[in-house]
Amino acid sequence: MSVAERIREVKNRIVNAAKRADRDPKDIVLVAVTKGVEVERIKEALAAGIRTFGESRVQEAGPKLKVLGKAASWHFIGHLQKNKVKYIAGEVDLIHSVDSIALCEEISLRAQKRGIVQNILLEVNISGEKGKFGLPPHEVMNTVRAATRLKDVSLKGLMMIPPFSDDPEDSRPFFHRLRELRDEMTGFGICPDGFSELSMGMSGDFEIGIEEGATLVRIGTAIFGQRG
Ligand SMILES: *Cc1c(COP(=O)(O)O)cnc(C)c1O
Repeated sequence: MSVAERIREVKNRIVNAAKRADRDPKDIVLVAVTKGVEVERIKEALAAGIRTFGESRVQEAGPKLKVLGKAASWHFIGHLQKNKVKYIAGEVDLIHSVDSIALCEEISLRAQKRGIVQNILLEVNISGEKGKFGLPPHEVMNTVRAATRLKDVSLKGLMMIPPFSDDPEDSRPFFHRLRELRDEMTGFGICPDGFSELSMGMSGDFEIGIEEGATLVRIGTAIFGQRG
């Protein structure tokens, strides 16, 4: 199957999942994940109508943004070390994977230097798996408060990666919990306007993510095929 055919199929599945959840498919952004994917295949996705790409590796982001940057919106979705923030802040429209106050502060500093406001999501380790990136749920409130005080970052919502499983249904309780956490934070009245995004769902479980309220789904394999 070509990239274009795969994209058509993924989009249909997004529409059907949205319908099941009584949601407007327009409220769900398909982020095509480009790690390990060459520029030529990314161009195929662009030609097939993809307008948002997500890269998870800092060293791959530079060259891809240089070639394709202006033609599409780019998100950074991978683990970000503080010393790499300078390569990413101001280069992408949204950073999904912010998991500490120190990282928020570094992003704010870099954004200020560049005269922009950087949109971010907080990554939450909902499952509590050891060795997994993301804030423990009990630290989310403090981090939201701290991020909200920084002028040069704009906090848009939450992101998570559920434990690996072959059964997409296994992801549902974790997606559900992220949505509850967002609603709790909003309920406390500590969140900025527009704190509504939920980045959850990948190739194996994006339909469940959408049923549980995802506004961003990050899809690599189902579009570009198995990574080499
Ligand atoms: C690679 C990656 C994805 C996409 O995974 P697929 O299973 O290939 O769809 C999504 N999110 C993050 C953070 C990733 O690193």
